[in-house]
Amino acid sequence: MSKFWSQVVRELEPYVPGEQPQIDGLIKLNTNESPYPPSPNVINLITHDAIDRLRLYPDPNSKKLKSTIASYYDVTTDQVFVGNGSDEVLALAFMAFFQQSRPLLFPDISYSFYPVYCKLFGIEFNTVPLRDDYTINFSDYSAENGGIIFPNPNAPTAIGKSLTDIETLLQKNTESVVIVDEAYIDFGGETAIALVDKYPNLLVVQTLSKSRALAGLRVGLAIGQKDLIDALDRVKNSFNSYPLDRLAEAAAIVSFEDDAYFKEGRDKIIATREWTTKELEKLGFKVLPSQANFVFAQPLGKDAAKIAEYLREHKILVRYFNKPRINQFLRITIGTDEQMQAMVSVLKNL
Ligand SMILES: *Cc1c(COP(=O)(O)O)cnc(C)c1O
Repeated sequence: MSKFWSQVVRELEPYVPGEQPQIDGLIKLNTNESPYPPSPNVINLITHDAIDRLRLYPDPNSKKLKSTIASYYDVTTDQVFVGNGSDEVLALAFMAFFQQSRPLLFPDISYSFYPVYCKLFGIEFNTVPLRDDYTINFSDYSAENGGIIFPNPNAPTAIGKSLTDIETLLQKNTESVVIVDEAYIDFGGETAIALVDKYPNLLVVQTLSKSRALAGLRVGLAIGQKDLIDALDRVKNSFNSYPLDRLAEAAAIVSFEDDAYFKEGRDKIIATREWTTKELEKLGFKVLPSQANFVFAQPLGKDAAKIAEYLREHKILVRYFNKPRINQFLRITIGTDEQMQAMVSVLKNL
C-alpha cells in the first residue's frame, strides 16, 4: 500500500479476471472465450487504409455501429449505447442508475464484478440467494430497491430465465432500473430486447466478447428506451468521449453483418456443449442445465479444487471459485470438439 493512495483506492476490492497464461499447448477453458476465430471479414478489415485513418479520432458517438445494431435488433438508433466491452457499459450504468438511497439487488451467486462496481461507486446492495437448485426466484426480489441486475443466463451457473418470468418481474418492479446482463444470451436464451418498448426501466446489456469471438476487441452494448440511453451518454461524455476506437467500431459492424458466420459458430458451440454435458454426466458429474458457452459441473464424490488442479497438470485450464455454495463446482468453457474430447479423456484417466 502506498502512502500516495487515496482513501478510496485503499478500500477498493478489484475484480480478478481469469488467468491468461502463456503456456504452449494449453487448452484454455477458463474465461468463456470462443475457441473459433472471429468472422474473416473482421480480419480483412485491417487494411493500410484503416491504419492510415488511425491518425484521426473516431466518431465519439459510434453512429454507424449503433445503426447497424439498431437494424439487427429492430430497435431505433437512439435506443442503442455502445462501450469499451460490456464491463464498461455496466460500470457506466451502475453510475447512471444505481447510486440511489435504496440498495441494489442481485443474486448471491452471480457475476463477481457487480459487488466490485458497488464498492467503487458507493452503492449499497443486498444479495438474494438462489434456490437450492441454483435457479433465480424473482418472487424474492420484491423488497424496495434502487435497482435490480442479473445475468441471463446467470453466470457462473449457466441457467437461464424465461422471458415470461422477466416480464412478470418488470410488471412488479416499476420504480427502479432492471438490467438484464445478456453476455451469454446467444447460446440458447431469449433476449429481453423485445420488452424494451414496453418497459421504460429495462436496460439490456450484451457483449461481442463471447458469441462473436471478439473478447480482445472490447465492444459491449446496451439497449433501452431513449431516456435511459441519454443517461448513459451523459455519464460516458463525462468520462471518455471515445470509448470505441476506429478498428473496434469497424470490426463490430462487420461482425453483425456476417450473420451466417455468427450462427455457424454459435451452433457448433451449442452442439459441443450438449456432447460435453452427456460425457461429464457419464463420468459422474452433476451438470447444471446450460444455456451458455460453458457448463457448471459438480464432480460427485470428488473434490472440485483437486480436479481443477489435476486438469491443470494436464495443461487444461478451467475456472474454480472458492466461494460458499459453489466451491464444489467447476466452470468449464466449451471449446472445440477436439479440446473437449481431450478434456474428457484426461478425466477418464483420473
Ligand atoms: C464476460 C461477461 C461480461 C463482460 O464482457 P466484456 O468482455 O467486458 O464485454 C459481462 N457480464 C457477464 C455476466 C460476463 O460473463
